[in-house]
Amino acid sequence: MKENKFNERRKDMVARQIVQRGITEPKIIEAFSSVQRHLFIPEYRRIFAYNDYPISIGEGQTISQPYMVALMTQLLEVRAGQKVLEIGTGSGYQAAILAHMGAQVYSIERIDSLAQNAKTTLDSLGYNVQVHVGDGTLGWPEHAPYDRMIVTAAAPKISPCWAQQLVIGGKIVIPLGTLFYQTLTVAEKVSEEELKVKSHSGCVFVPLIGKYGYRE
Ligand code: SAM
Repeated sequence: MKENKFNERRKDMVARQIVQRGITEPKIIEAFSSVQRHLFIPEYRRIFAYNDYPISIGEGQTISQPYMVALMTQLLEVRAGQKVLEIGTGSGYQAAILAHMGAQVYSIERIDSLAQNAKTTLDSLGYNVQVHVGDGTLGWPEHAPYDRMIVTAAAPKISPCWAQQLVIGGKIVIPLGTLFYQTLTVAEKVSEEELKVKSHSGCVFVPLIGKYGYRE
């Protein structure tokens, strides 16, 4: 498919899937309009890049539905210059959206081949995202503390490592629940000991595997 066709589809995605569903923050709309989502998807599936559903990226993993990425980005309330830790790099698309919005992004992926592909794509587009291969349920203590954390895989609970590595006033956006169904949740660190938790809509993500995931 030609580049201008992808551009048309991206414009249509933003109008129908993002703006019409209530995502109105100009910085988010600008990022979704600019970041070339199709480049984060294996070549033979690029034709589906702007459709309204998650797409397989190999290794049994997915790039999330565009609206889900937008909703999580909105709930994250990130500002330029803030330090964000993402758990579950996958394709690198969510990291690119956050980097495009001016965040300093650190992203952890447990599957080496996905991390390598994501890093290659991010670098080729000029997004300065630090990608690390490992168990994201342990966080990334070397770069802590973080202003924001975004967990893009289904989690049974909030890892104590994340809570510890977040600044006071910082937020975690995370799909919390069972392996089959989760609730998009925002947890704000209000003191060293306390997270204030708010539930949003239902969602379904691939599972978080690791020390504080569903299994190691
Ligand atoms: N944010 C991604 C994107 O923009 O394409 C989508 C992420 S995909 C829905 C979830 C990812 O989480 C998968 O790539 C999976 O390998 C990864 N994952 C699962 N458990 C993990 C863990 N403990 N640490 C890091 N990554 C993990």
